[in-house]
Amino acid sequence: RCGFVAIVGRPNVGKSTLLNHILGQKLSITSRKPQTTRHQVLGIKTDGPVQAIYVDTPGMHEEEPRALNRYMNRAASSALVDVDVVVFVVDQLAWTPADELVLDKLSRVRCPVILAVNKVDKLANREQLLPHIEMLSKKREFAEIIPLSALKETNLAPLEAAVGRFL
Ligand code: GDP
Ligand code: MG
Repeated sequence: RCGFVAIVGRPNVGKSTLLNHILGQKLSITSRKPQTTRHQVLGIKTDGPVQAIYVDTPGMHEEEPRALNRYMNRAASSALVDVDVVVFVVDQLAWTPADELVLDKLSRVRCPVILAVNKVDKLANREQLLPHIEMLSKKREFAEIIPLSALKETNLAPLEAAVGRFL
């Protein structure tokens, strides 16, 4: 099985850190999926029979929301249309209007969205996370909500397993 995974989120939530720690190193592009030409392939992680192709979604990472709007509005060519699963990264307890904006853009996305609650290593008390996760879980139907630390590589395996289930 192989499929496309988009990592999205506002700036500074740890997307690049997460990707780097998942990939370990960038591998060469071996995918023959036609969508590859429409995405910027950032890296490929092969795990047994499962191959996850991590792609960039133009506009999604930009501060300028109009860039994303323009992108999403291009009929039938939204990067997220060709994506099999989205990993939406947020920064532990910090929910901001910029996160809300990304969430709003994702409302048009029909593929599974996994919420990665990153930087949990910064929490003095992990129980603080429970009411916050409950709040987040009401924002949309997430396929999974996974607290993790990209930096400390905590809970990356459950994230990768969840991604693999949707490929
Ligand atoms: P991006 O803009 O979403 O790609 O975010 P980056 O990956 O560039 O990370 C932004 C900052 O957050 C950097 O200083 C990272 O070292 C830090 N960061 C990323 N992940 C974690 C994490 O799990 N824990 C902590 N404490 N810091 C993190
Ligand atoms: Mg980045």
